[in-house]
Amino acid sequence: MNILVINCGSSSLKYQLIDSESEKVLAKGLCERIGIGGSAITHQPADGEKVTSQVEMKEHTDAVRYVMEKLTDEKVGVVRSLDEIGAIGHRIVHGGEKFASSVVIDDTVMKAIEECNDLAPLHNPANLIGINSCRAIMPDVTNVAVFDTAFHQTMPKKAYLYGLPYAYYEKYKVRRYGFHGTSHDFVSRRAAELLGKDRKDLKIIVCHLGNGASVSAVKNGQSVDTSMGLTPLEGLIMGTRSGDLDPAIISFLCEKEQITAQEMVDILNKKSGVLGLSDGLSSDFRDLGQAAENGNQKAIDTLEAYAYRVAKYVGAYTAAMNGVDVIAFTAGIGENNARVREMVGEYLGYLGVSMIPEKNALRGEEVILSEEGSKVTVMVIPTNEELAIARETLRLVRDREAGK
Ligand code: ADP
Repeated sequence: MNILVINCGSSSLKYQLIDSESEKVLAKGLCERIGIGGSAITHQPADGEKVTSQVEMKEHTDAVRYVMEKLTDEKVGVVRSLDEIGAIGHRIVHGGEKFASSVVIDDTVMKAIEECNDLAPLHNPANLIGINSCRAIMPDVTNVAVFDTAFHQTMPKKAYLYGLPYAYYEKYKVRRYGFHGTSHDFVSRRAAELLGKDRKDLKIIVCHLGNGASVSAVKNGQSVDTSMGLTPLEGLIMGTRSGDLDPAIISFLCEKEQITAQEMVDILNKKSGVLGLSDGLSSDFRDLGQAAENGNQKAIDTLEAYAYRVAKYVGAYTAAMNGVDVIAFTAGIGENNARVREMVGEYLGYLGVSMIPEKNALRGEEVILSEEGSKVTVMVIPTNEELAIARETLRLVRDREAGK
C-alpha cells in the first residue's frame, strides 16, 4: 500500500509517498510560503530530479491539491491516479493528555486535536487544516494522526509535573509533554534491534540533536522522561531555542528591553540557542564547526556549552533510570557531527564509555561507536520520522480491516 505522510507547518507542508511493503520513498517534497506570497512546491520523485514550481498557494488546501497533482503528474508523478494512495498519515505536534498513541481520524478525533490548540497555537491549527484538506480532496481515504507527544505519555507524574501551584496543572494542563516522540520511539526500538535485545530489557537514552533537540530516557520500552516540556522550548540549547533557563530572566529582560513577555518568548524560540550564543554567527552546526576550527572563540564557547548541556541530561537520565545500557545519537547533528559526539563522549568516562575514533568519524550511518564489551553501548541511529508515521498508519489501517 502507498502511504502519503504529511507534515503541515504554519506556512509549509512536507510530504513523502512511501510504499509500505518495500518501505521505499517513491517521492517527496515541500510546499513553502503557503498564504504569505511567493509560494512554491518542490517535488522529487525517487529516481528523478528535483523540480520546483512557483504556484500560488493561498491556503493549505491549495498545497494539498498541488501535492496530489505532482504525485499523479505524467512526467514527475509516481502513481497513475489518487486511487493508488491507500492511506494518509499526519504528523500532529500536540496531543496533550488526550492521545497516548496514534489514531484513525474521525470527527471526534478532530475535535480532540482542536482542544489541544491552546498548547501548540502555531502548529496544531496548521495540522488540522492539513487533515481537513486531505479529507476534502480524498474523502474515501483513511487519515491517521501520529502525535509528537504520544510516546512520552508514559512518563510518571514525578517527571511531568512542574514545581508550580497544582491548580495550573488542573486548570490549564500545564505539565511536561515532550516532543520528537516518533523519533525517540523509532530510534530506541532500532537500537534494541541492533543489539539483538528486547527493548523491554533495556535502559536507553536517545539524544535527538537536530535544529530542535531533545533527550529522552526510555526504560523497559517506555519513555520515562524527556527534556522538552509544555512546549519545545525547554531542555537542550538548540539551533535557535534557548532551552533551560532561570524563568525570572524573562521578566528581567522584558523590563530592561521594554518588550512584552510574548516578544521575549519569540526571542527565546527564534533568536537564542547556538544562534544567539554565537552572537548571531549561525544556527547551523556546519558553520559553527568551521568557525571554531578557524579559532573563533564565540563558536568554540557555543559548542562547549551545547555539548555540556547534552552531557548533563545524559547524566540526569542515567540517574533517573538507575543506570543506562545504550546512548543513541540521532537527527542532523547527532548523525553527522563527529565533533559534538566526541565532546559529549568526553563527559561519559565515568560510565565506562570510550568511543572508537574511526567509528565516530563516520557520518549518517547506523553504527556502534563504543568499544566491544563496553558496559554502555554508544551508537548512531539515523532517525526516520516519516517512515515511522507510515508504519503507524499501516498498522492502524490493518487493525481496522481486521475489525480490531
Ligand atoms: P530539523 O530539526 O530541522 O529536522 P536536522 O535534523 O536537519 O534539523 O538538523 C539540522 C542540523 O544538523 C544543522 O545544525 C546541520 O548543521 C546539521 N547537519 C545536517 N546534515 C549535516 C551533515 N551532512 N553534516 C554535518 N551537519 C549536518
